[in-house]
Amino acid sequence: MRQRIAVVGGGPAGLTFARVLHHHDHPVTVLERDPAPDARPPGGTLDLHEGMGQLALAKAGLLAEFQALSRPEGQAMRILDVDGTVLRDWPARPDDRAHPEIDRGQLRDLLLGPLDVQWGRGVAEVVPGTGDGVLVRFADGREETFDLVVGADGAWSRVRRAVSPATPHYTGITLVETSLDDVDTRHPGLARLVGDGSVAVYGVNRAFVAQRNSGGHVKVYAQFRAPLDWHAGLDWADAEAVRSSLLTLYDGWTAPVLDFLHHGTAFVHRPLYVLPVAHTWAHVPGVTLLGDAAHLMPPLGWARTSRCWEAPNSPRPSPPPPASWTRPSVPSRNACGHGPPGGGRWRRPVWNASSARTLARPSPSSTRFSRPDQQPRPSKTLQRVIGLAYSSVCTMRPFFHA
Ligand SMILES: Cc1cc2nc3c(=O)[nH]c(=O)nc-3n(C[C@H](O)[C@H](O)[C@H](O)COP(=O)(O)OP(=O)(O)OC[C@H]3O[C@@H](n4cnc5c(N)ncnc54)[C@H](O)[C@@H]3O)c2cc1C
Repeated sequence: MRQRIAVVGGGPAGLTFARVLHHHDHPVTVLERDPAPDARPPGGTLDLHEGMGQLALAKAGLLAEFQALSRPEGQAMRILDVDGTVLRDWPARPDDRAHPEIDRGQLRDLLLGPLDVQWGRGVAEVVPGTGDGVLVRFADGREETFDLVVGADGAWSRVRRAVSPATPHYTGITLVETSLDDVDTRHPGLARLVGDGSVAVYGVNRAFVAQRNSGGHVKVYAQFRAPLDWHAGLDWADAEAVRSSLLTLYDGWTAPVLDFLHHGTAFVHRPLYVLPVAHTWAHVPGVTLLGDAAHLMPPLGWARTSRCWEAPNSPRPSPPPPASWTRPSVPSRNACGHGPPGGGRWRRPVWNASSARTLARPSPSSTRFSRPDQQPRPSKTLQRVIGLAYSSVCTMRPFFHA
């Protein structure tokens, strides 16, 4: 008899897992809370790594289609200091398939394919151990029973409660997302700076990342250490108020960073939460977890190369500033709640017209380190999420062969 399998959540992890099952002739139903695939913006760009996310897609029979859609050139990455100096510049080789980028919307559409997805079916509760299997109770009060329920319902998973008491906690780091459209035509200088991939700027306790998506769209993430209520009194519907608050936070940073914020069209608040790194749970027959529901991590892999998240009580405190450095007129402590004694963070005499010209040049030549192709690459997050989808398939193999 065929097992009744439900995947709760139609994000990248749930859809990938469902496509792997489908590819191996296991019927599966995806239960998704959103009323339709395009009910909300799909988000930015994701990189899928060889041997991880790409392996999962291969197991779903989708690798060739992914390779046709993805952007190897999106692996290019540039890292700047807050004064605009280019610290690292990784160009992307066209034949490099290590971790090409793909728009989330394109990945979702690729994964959806022939899947049986039931839209508008928010799950309220999962009750294992009923005589007939695992009971799924929906937000609208309806109920249905399955043999296996896979919780791929993200950070605030309802399924997780059936197997684990863990809840996400705030990392102390918040992202504010904005975006620019038609960047090559409307903002050619910023387009050149982002190049085909990403540009990241790292300061102390704050950073800034801009990533090219397809179709001339650029997603921008202002990232900073802040208490959860840092935005008290800020009206998120008032884009100009949010913009002004961010411009204050990044006051003194290199001009292109401020330009990205000036031209951003709407702002989305994304405080980052995590589950305990070693989150595990005792086996509960018929229920398991996948993706962020199981292993929620911050999307900050690239920050390991930087000093960005150094806390004021860090065991390795910042060196004292050179005598020529100045204190900023706007102290960062107001926004971030952290900073060197006395208020704002120290900074160099910063941006000037010549550093802006350096940044806007088609190929920056001021890298301070070894040749780009000798430099280590940054790592990112989704490889682990979809890699977990794949490893969960392996873990659950006994279930299907039972
Ligand atoms: C700001 C930000 C930027 C990021 N950038 C990157 C990046 O550049 N690269 C990268 O690799 N990773 C990135 N990540 C991480 C990545 O987005 C997640 O790891 C990934 O989306 C997790 O996929 P998932 O399918 O497990 O969960 P989700 O993507 O959260 O999907 C969960 C799905 O479940 C649905 N759902 C939720 N609750 C219910 C319910 N009760 N019933 C039914 N359905 C439900 C949701 O509607 C959603 O469709 C970023 C994360 C954030 C927050």
